[in-house]
This record gives sequence, structure tokens and C-alpha cells, in this order.
Amino acid sequence: MFDIDQNSNKGKILNLLYRKRELTKLDISNEIGVSVPTVISNVNELIREGFVEESGVAISTGGRKPIIVSFLPNSRYAFGVDINPDKARVILTNLDLDIKYDAEFLINEVRDIDSAMKKISEIIKEALEFTKVDEKKVLGIGFSLQGTVDEKELVLKSAINIGIKDWNFRKFENLFEFPMFIENEANAAALAELKIGIAKEERNLVYISVSSGLGTGIVIEGQLYKGKNKRAGEIGHMTIVPHGKLCRCGRKGCWEMYASQKALLNEFNELSDTKIEKLEDFFKLLDARNEVAEKCMENYLDALATGIQNIVLIFDPHYIVLGGEISGYSDVYLDRLKDKIFIKNEFYSREDFKLLPSRLKSNSSILGASLLPIQKAFLIEEQVI
Ligand SMILES: [Zn+2]
Repeated sequence: MFDIDQNSNKGKILNLLYRKRELTKLDISNEIGVSVPTVISNVNELIREGFVEESGVAISTGGRKPIIVSFLPNSRYAFGVDINPDKARVILTNLDLDIKYDAEFLINEVRDIDSAMKKISEIIKEALEFTKVDEKKVLGIGFSLQGTVDEKELVLKSAINIGIKDWNFRKFENLFEFPMFIENEANAAALAELKIGIAKEERNLVYISVSSGLGTGIVIEGQLYKGKNKRAGEIGHMTIVPHGKLCRCGRKGCWEMYASQKALLNEFNELSDTKIEKLEDFFKLLDARNEVAEKCMENYLDALATGIQNIVLIFDPHYIVLGGEISGYSDVYLDRLKDKIFIKNEFYSREDFKLLPSRLKSNSSILGASLLPIQKAFLIEEQVI
């Protein structure tokens, strides 16, 4: 567990070292505004607790050579869990989000969500045994979920792709020895992109999570924008085809009915005699110049481009990050997608924003989940508006 008061000098020093990684005691004293003897006694405590170490000496400006205090990323850990309609994945990461353990199971292997959660708790025990990480060093477990999430009450309010409504995670708190956190998967992914991914340091971005559904995480001025009912970013359900295909949300012609990974595979399976389940197989067929695959890709990119054009008009972001498994194949289609987005128009041109595939690929939402307890522990400003 983590019991350092974040407003104490020790908490402030730890937070500073988490961000800056290496500092001399004099640097720390100057940054926090406390005396060097106070820094020394607090650093000694942090060394005893395993968070930092003294390593090497800095270049001296005269007098005694100052010792560098370094942050230790393996001093604490966090679990990240990603649950989607097909499978659940569990990872253990250190404080730098390096993955130390990685396991998954298919959702249809378990009866219901209660048994899925039990299975997750078993994987966690295995992970701790395998990595020999002390349970006491785990800051918490974060869940990335498709749907509308109330992160304060730990309630998954609505997840139409898995048929869940008002589902309270609190009843599972006793399964774990550490605190639980939940977040919408596109928001979690946007958070990870902002912290360690391609959009590091950028202020305005929209992360598009392409999976069985389609969700977006919106970051404005470095803060996650969630809206009054935490529903902001449900752009997958904006209408792009009036009176179009019926969506599970009850409306017709939603973007995710045309631009999700599932939509692409469904269209191919409807038009082709060959039936496929994996995106990998679709791109193999495309590579082999399969005509149906080429046609489906063309329609898919048209739909994806239409939604992205709308996003650009609404948000005018610095970056649009395309995430999910499909972003791993961006070499195949990114130029064509851009040609479809940047048609001649009065508002934007190719120079106005960057469209990039996620560098974290299909890991972004689960890394964002793992980041939730770390963020809480290290008092990184809560970035929600
Ligand atoms: Zn819909």
C-alpha cells in the first residue's frame, strides 16, 4: 500500500523525483523550497522505503561532489486490466509502465462477469508469484472498459457492446488486496498516449479507439474532457449515414457500424464466401489483392475519413491518434486515408493537424489502466475537466 501524505515534504520530494528522475539534494531543496537538512532526512526515509537510491556523483561546481538521488521505477507496481467483448487481458507494470507480466483469456471461457473477475484475481496471484513482486508493492488495479464509466463511484454505467448497465465494481473490492480504479477504454488510451505515447506534451488531441466498437478519448489543454454525464467522446455513435444500419444503441447509421474493426470484418464476411474472424487474416487477403477485401477496405476508409473530418471540425486538435489493432497496419492504408480526409475544403489542410497511428498500438488502453493507480499515488494532477 501507499501511505505517504502527498502534501508532506516527503510526498513532494517523491513526486518531484518521479517526474525528474535524477536530482541532487540541493536541486531538490531549491525546487521544493525546503532546507537541505530536511531534504536529507526525507531522502533517507525514501531510500529505506525503496523508492529512491543514491547513485553516482554530479559534476561539481567546486567543494564536495554532490550525490545524485535517483528514482527507482521498480520500487512499486500496478495492474492494468482490459475487458472487451472478446477477451480480458491482465498486465503487471512497473512505474514506467514496462510490462512485467501479461496474460489473457477469452470471455467465452467464463460463464459470466463474476467468474471473469474471479479468473482475473487468480491471474493476479500467478503474476505476483511468477514475478516475485511483493503484494505490498502493488499500488492498485486499473480497469479499462468499453462504455460509460463513473470512475468515482466505480460504476460501469452503460456498456452496450457487452450488454451491461449500472454495474458496480465495488462488490469485487474484496477480491483484491489493493485499491481498484476504472476508466473508459478510449479515455485510458488517451491518457497513456499523453503520458508516454506519441502525443506526449501535446495539448489537444483526440484518440480514436478502433476495436469491436469505436470510442474516442478527448484531451483539451492536456486534460481529459468527459462532459457532464461522462459521455463525451461517444463519437462512435454519431450518425454518418442517415437511416443507415441499426446500431445496438438504438439509433441508425452510427459511425461504429461502418468504421469499427467489427464493421470491417462483418462487411467482408457478408460479401465473401471465405469467412474470417481475425483482422490479421483480412490484411493477408488484402495483401494478396483479394477483390472483396479491397472493396471493403475502400468503403471502410471512406467511413473512417468521414468521422475524422467531423472530429476535426468540432475540435480542431493538434493530433488525432488512431489506436487499436488496426493501427498496427497503418502502413497499408494511412496515405489513402489521408487523401480521403484532406479533400479540398475551406477549413483545414494537411498542415493543420497530424493524424498518427498509436505508437503504443493495442497496448494503449491497458497501459492507461495501469497508469490510473500510479497517477493517484504520485499525485499527478487529476487531468479531467
Ligand atoms: Zn450507435
